[in-house]
Amino acid sequence: MCAEGRHEIAPRSGVAFTLDRGDRLTVIDPRGEQVADLLAFNRHDTDEVLSSGRTLDYASRIYLTTGDPLYSNRSNVLLRIVEDSVGRHDFLLTPCSADTFRIIYGDADPHRGCFGNLAAALAPYGIGPDRIPVAFNCFMNVPVDGTTGTFHVAPPLSRAGDHITFEAQADLIIGLTACSALQSNNGSFKPIHYRIVRAGKAA
Ligand SMILES: [Zn+2]
Repeated sequence: MCAEGRHEIAPRSGVAFTLDRGDRLTVIDPRGEQVADLLAFNRHDTDEVLSSGRTLDYASRIYLTTGDPLYSNRSNVLLRIVEDSVGRHDFLLTPCSADTFRIIYGDADPHRGCFGNLAAALAPYGIGPDRIPVAFNCFMNVPVDGTTGTFHVAPPLSRAGDHITFEAQADLIIGLTACSALQSNNGSFKPIHYRIVRAGKAA
């Protein structure tokens, strides 16, 4: 753990941990322009997981920010965004993976990416790789042309110290990464910090 109760996720790696209902998770971009993929599973029944499709459907918007709920595949709210100093995140694209790097970048010996890092971090909780859905990609900047639907991955708008805070609306297992894709992070791999404030306790 580093200063101020912050945990660090090393570049191109990932972690998993639990939250209780009411706990607050702050994801911090310490250097700027670094994406963090976030997953949430119901801790008491891991068949319930964050759902991009349901969340975007109910929001009628693809860019989510302060006040927006993140729904599960069963239409329960798992997380709510309670603070956001950036206002641009992605909830369309799957976690980067060895296949991403092979297909998009042409890597012959690809890194396992956020997908592999999430799979490894979630394995101790009994969650297999085929159950990893679209993650909420904190700070990922994917502008979409409203007419054609064409999108591209642009540098994150986050600057050093920017953050997004979520409040757990259920008891959760969280997966969180420092993203491994060059394009998503404006060409360099940086760490991600996070801080947890437990329900009922002061920061
Ligand atoms: Zn990634």
